[in-house]
Amino acid sequence: MRDMQRDLPQILWDPLLEEGVEQDCACSTDRPVIWEAGTEASRETDCACPETSAPVSSPFPSAAGLWRRPSDLYRAPLPDAHELTFNPAGPAGVVVLNEPATYLLDSFATPHPLTSPTSRQLASLGLLTPACATESGVRDTPHTLTAWLHVTNRCNLHCAYCYVRQSDEGMDERTGRAAVEATVRSAVRHGFRAVKFKYAGGEPTLNWALVQSLHRHAAERTARAGLELHEVLLSNGTLLTTEMLDWLRDAGVRLMVSLDGIGAAHDAQRHFADGRGSFALVARTIERAVARGLSPYVSVTVTPDSAAALPETVAFILEHDLPFNLNFVRGEGDVTPADKARLIEGVQAAFAVIGQALPRRRLLDGLLDRSFFGAAHTHPCGAGRSYLVIGPQGRIARCQMEMERAVTDVWADDPLLAVRQRQDGFQNVPVESKESCRDCPWRYWCAGGCPLLAYRTTGRSDTASPYCEVYRALYPALLRLEGLRLLKWSPPVA
Ligand code: SF4
Ligand code: SF4
Repeated sequence: MRDMQRDLPQILWDPLLEEGVEQDCACSTDRPVIWEAGTEASRETDCACPETSAPVSSPFPSAAGLWRRPSDLYRAPLPDAHELTFNPAGPAGVVVLNEPATYLLDSFATPHPLTSPTSRQLASLGLLTPACATESGVRDTPHTLTAWLHVTNRCNLHCAYCYVRQSDEGMDERTGRAAVEATVRSAVRHGFRAVKFKYAGGEPTLNWALVQSLHRHAAERTARAGLELHEVLLSNGTLLTTEMLDWLRDAGVRLMVSLDGIGAAHDAQRHFADGRGSFALVARTIERAVARGLSPYVSVTVTPDSAAALPETVAFILEHDLPFNLNFVRGEGDVTPADKARLIEGVQAAFAVIGQALPRRRLLDGLLDRSFFGAAHTHPCGAGRSYLVIGPQGRIARCQMEMERAVTDVWADDPLLAVRQRQDGFQNVPVESKESCRDCPWRYWCAGGCPLLAYRTTGRSDTASPYCEVYRALYPALLRLEGLRLLKWSPPVA
């Protein structure tokens, strides 16, 4: 814990990741940034992400003009006279201030110029705004085009909530290469800086030779097009051999494994056709992957039935120091009040476990479904904007949950344009267009939740997620957890 007696203002926050909305990648940063009066702002990070635009518009804004404290800052006390501060429309997520920094912030209740480095740092984090500004706009321009490559419809598991219609259908080499070409073509056409391929299914290891071949093709094509390449294999974790794990590590393809609980809790949701559970196999795969130098991203699908098992699931993941996220199940029906209560209770209990062993690793963006606190954003995901879901026959849909509603195919000149122009069905509208979200303090970090789920539940795209109540109940505790983590892991004062 930091020395509370210091007179110098201290500001803690975490470097931001503009592109982190897709939570199956483990590109979060491990170390908080601390800025102290008299030092340069530093961004100490082990982040493997490509450099995106700076999270703050300028590290040290001009001192010219008058600046003020925004009226709608979210503020909450932290131990030892620290304060958690959060500007709902600002460029930074959670910021922790010590008492002198809080005092300085409050002095801007009356507008005045930025006369000190600390005040300029507060301004760069969006905690001070120009006195003449009426409204802060949020820019939300994706730089990565993501393609879900559904390499097979086959799977060896029969998970309770699976939305894939299993069959023997698999992608062939010609279609797979055309999928890579189509993605690169659209990425270049629309000015993206990077592409990300998700090798998915079904269980993608059941078409392993194609995954390897598409990786090689993607590496060659993206290099030629001047695009960054990111890849992840989305696996159920039951069929990964040692050779496969070594190949993923050496090829730089990330691994995401699904784990919904420990023992019976996992087995109840993720089992074989004959009812046998898959937990033992998945746990062993995770151990083997870690031993071989991988850091698998753990995706936990949370249902009202599995929520009570979250504390031990999270404890297991923390013990292995793995990146993870908690996704709320996207079912067909409404979410009942009883379901919401069980989710809130389960996630709160998981937060308590995390609070007892706050990790150095940033967790904030993975703990509450689609929420992402790395950068203010207006859309919860890339569906209809920066996302292509490509089926085994080369048909392209907007989301993996509606693969049967293809928009175009991989032989189209510009598949992304067709995806963006689709007018029927759900629409991924900006959060300001969602009636119940536009005044919500969490809007630029939640962005209204999964638009497809909202549409399926209500028949409307311009409304909040059915999980809204759950989000609202948990956001304050989530932010507090992050504030405590920043306090714990800030470097000691010299
Ligand atoms: S879904 Fe709820 S919590 Fe999220 S932005 Fe909308 S109103 Fe706010
Ligand atoms: S529409 Fe929903 S399920 Fe589809 S990509 Fe977006 S958040 Fe995910």
